[in-house]
Amino acid sequence: MSKIQFLDTTLRDGEQSPGVNLNRFEKLEIARQLEALGVDIIEAGFAASSEGDFLGVQEIARQIRSVSISSLSRAKDSDIRTAWDALKKAAEPRLHIFLATSDIHMKHKLNLTRSEVLETAKHCVQLAKSFFPKVQISAEDACRSDRAFLAEFVETAIQAGADVINIPDTVGYINPSEYYDLFKFLQENVPSYDKAIFSCHCHDDLGMAVANSLAAIQAGVEQVECTVNGIGERAGNAALEEIAVALHIREDVYRKNTNLRLHEITKTSELVSRLTGMVVQKNKAIVGSNAFAHESGIHQDGVLKEPTTYEIIPPALIGLSTNSLVLGKHSGRHAFTDRLNGLGYEFSTEIINEAFIQFKALTDKKKDITDEDLMRIISKWSDKEVLK
Ligand SMILES: [Zn+2]
Repeated sequence: MSKIQFLDTTLRDGEQSPGVNLNRFEKLEIARQLEALGVDIIEAGFAASSEGDFLGVQEIARQIRSVSISSLSRAKDSDIRTAWDALKKAAEPRLHIFLATSDIHMKHKLNLTRSEVLETAKHCVQLAKSFFPKVQISAEDACRSDRAFLAEFVETAIQAGADVINIPDTVGYINPSEYYDLFKFLQENVPSYDKAIFSCHCHDDLGMAVANSLAAIQAGVEQVECTVNGIGERAGNAALEEIAVALHIREDVYRKNTNLRLHEITKTSELVSRLTGMVVQKNKAIVGSNAFAHESGIHQDGVLKEPTTYEIIPPALIGLSTNSLVLGKHSGRHAFTDRLNGLGYEFSTEIINEAFIQFKALTDKKKDITDEDLMRIISKWSDKEVLK
């Protein structure tokens, strides 16, 4: 099985989430945890964008030694030189240049013709290669670009020395089958395709970022870009934890390895949520607080008999100690008895039956039933009639 490299951009694209602003100490703390998680590349920031970002990238490059550290850069000589200043002490520095290739961006944003964009790409990659051992270029807004021109752009960048070619869905527009086809098109129409590593980078505007990333992996890309908890510009980026766990659980389909230590996922998610102030929605896949919680009585009964009945992911895989059976109006007798046992009580069937009626009555008035509620219900028996 071949390996997928994870480029984590929580500290760059993730930090561009509206309302998020990390200082360099917080960035370093997250970078250390990303290193523990086992990501291959950390995009630490955009060195030329501000003094704070420069210092953050520089500090991470000095301290994190087992991961390649990258900075984003516009296709400008000054940005490339500033990024090199920030990254030159890194164990494996890399540069990530972005340059738009869609007609909309070239016309309205860059005010450049197609041939000027090709010239700029060639010049910037060559300049970057004179400093950096690894250079990545992104064809910004690639998914709304003219395909023939995109292929020409990619070929030019590879000829100029680019090591990694990123084909981002900058605006979250494409769907999985189109994204798959786009990579197949490039494989057939870029003569030097095999000389570079291809990368995907997806946004979630239409809720397809993770599905698109997995489609790109099926089309043969070797690098995936994502953020912890899926934070990022607008609706966010593809969520690292969702891609990682999907690759693991559906290894039968994807047939790929990673260097990730999946049991660090929960810890990483909690740290990023706490430091960014971006609360993880309860029903979020993998890391939401309800992701391993069962409430329906039929499900709880099944999970108590055999977890795999309703759980495709073992909680321990991502570093959670256990699933949780939420006691509420949908819970059955099995989960109720199991919780009482967990609290140290074993009652006769007669008492269980009576206590269960009282429990059900309480669930009509109260959504979640706590251990204190249970203790109150069983208090009249718990002192004297505990059967050992
Ligand atoms: Zn992005």
